[in-house]
Amino acid sequence: MSKEVQPIFILPEGTQRTSGRSAQRNNIMAAKLVAETIRTTLGPRGMDKMLVDSIGDITITNDGVTILEEMNVEHPAAKMIVEVAKTQEAEVGDGTTTAVVIAGELLRKAEALLDQKVHPTIIARGFRLAQEHAQKALEEIAQPVTITDEDTLKKIGSTALTGKGAETAKERLGELAVMAVKKVIEVDKNKISFDPDNIKLEKHTGESVEDTELVQGIVIEKETVHPAMPKKVEKAKIALLNCPLEIKDTEIDAKIQITDPSQMQAFLNQEEAMLKAMVDHIKGTGANVVFCQKGIDDLAQHFLAKEGIYACRRVKKSDLEAISRATGGRVVTSLKDLSAQDLGSAGEVREEKIGEDDMTFITGCDNPKALTILVRGSTTHVVDEAKRALTDAIGDIAAALKSGHVVAGAGACELEIAKELNKYAGTLPGREQLAVRAFADALEIIPRTLAENAGLDPIDILVELKAAHEADNCWAGIDVNSGKIVDAWDRGVIEPLKIKTQAITSASEVAQMILRIDDVIASGKQERAQGPGPHSHSEDY
Ligand code: ADP
Ligand code: MG
Repeated sequence: MSKEVQPIFILPEGTQRTSGRSAQRNNIMAAKLVAETIRTTLGPRGMDKMLVDSIGDITITNDGVTILEEMNVEHPAAKMIVEVAKTQEAEVGDGTTTAVVIAGELLRKAEALLDQKVHPTIIARGFRLAQEHAQKALEEIAQPVTITDEDTLKKIGSTALTGKGAETAKERLGELAVMAVKKVIEVDKNKISFDPDNIKLEKHTGESVEDTELVQGIVIEKETVHPAMPKKVEKAKIALLNCPLEIKDTEIDAKIQITDPSQMQAFLNQEEAMLKAMVDHIKGTGANVVFCQKGIDDLAQHFLAKEGIYACRRVKKSDLEAISRATGGRVVTSLKDLSAQDLGSAGEVREEKIGEDDMTFITGCDNPKALTILVRGSTTHVVDEAKRALTDAIGDIAAALKSGHVVAGAGACELEIAKELNKYAGTLPGREQLAVRAFADALEIIPRTLAENAGLDPIDILVELKAAHEADNCWAGIDVNSGKIVDAWDRGVIEPLKIKTQAITSASEVAQMILRIDDVIASGKQERAQGPGPHSHSEDY
């Protein structure tokens, strides 16, 4: 005899809930899928992805974080993996694919342990121990680097650029990145600080990536507003305005009733007089260059030109800020407040034709740290990818100088850590040992992927590579061209220590977090909430 059991609902209708093993499997599967998606882009022989957004814009890239951001991932666990890439990007600026691929592999190894009935908290604890030990091992093998090691810095730059669309120009871009970082970085008694905002990357389509150049100063994509304005101003005194040089107030729509033609003339005369007064005020402060974030009235343009003032309108806020930093000028929000003290100064402001467009160059700035890299390339996609690659290279060089340490890549440092972790596992009692070994095995995914992406047989290579590390060749890595085992350090495949420490830490942390989840409670889609109001229910019946 079965009794009718009344179900009890504690969650609102439409809530989806998965728990226990199936929640875990589901999350691990999603995380692995994300890692799998970008795995093919890893390393010098990695392929690129073409991303097409909802309005048809195309991005072609090899950059892990860019791909993940554009992918619009929805699964919650997959989103956690995307966060790992974002953290990596924010902290180091490179190594995003590495971090995600390691996270995916850690979870795959964890899954195997779960199948053997190892409890998730034990695995998580083991991963934590392994992660800490890996940091120590990394610090032990890392080599020091300083700002005078030009050669090493260039190698870091070119390692970051290898395998990107801009690789053909990697010598040139690597050199530029080193030059730029050296100019901007501040070394103050053992404390090194670096503000990436000081290096402005201005994109311009035309010519080739080889023609990318470093300009000491600021370059903006703006021309003078009036043809009669000077094309070049020396000893520039620069006004930076965040207010329009116009009369009409867009906020208030005033209506004027004119009953007589003379009134109209008087009105126009008055407007002219006000614009003239604005320009006179600017002139009075001693400014001979104006960068305005808003519009400049035609008549004001004319007066400015008559006074021989160089003026650009609708300058981007970020550009205005960059000019402010470079020239010491202050951005003024109300013209009345503009005074001589607010002006920035530069040796020269000039208009120059780059390809089809006129651009403004502000050089000889007060602040010698103001730099622009004018990134060139044949099409917008090429320029975009070159800019991303250059950002990676600059980030890597700065990261290496900040922590003062570098390691060799090409799979070398991952396998060296794996070796150390296996040794360490032997010293542990209990089941954590299994998790530490799983962690060590997971790191092999990096050399394995580098080999696979280069079309090489990963099995033979891994066997050889491990043997080389056992024989104490700490930097033994893969030559992706020949498939031979080489000394990655001698080959100049050098990366900042921080890439590896950060990637391993965040991969391990996200894996632990995902492992600890045994229940996913997702509130139902709020269909009703989309149609609020008194009638929204009526359709239901
Ligand atoms: P990420 O987004 O993680 O930076 P990349 O596509 O830039 O991914 O690939 C980085 C990996 O490629 C690192 O493991 C690095 O050691 C390796 N690598 C870079 N240059 C070379 C090279 N010349 N030979 C072998 N491996 C390399
Ligand atoms: Mg990289």
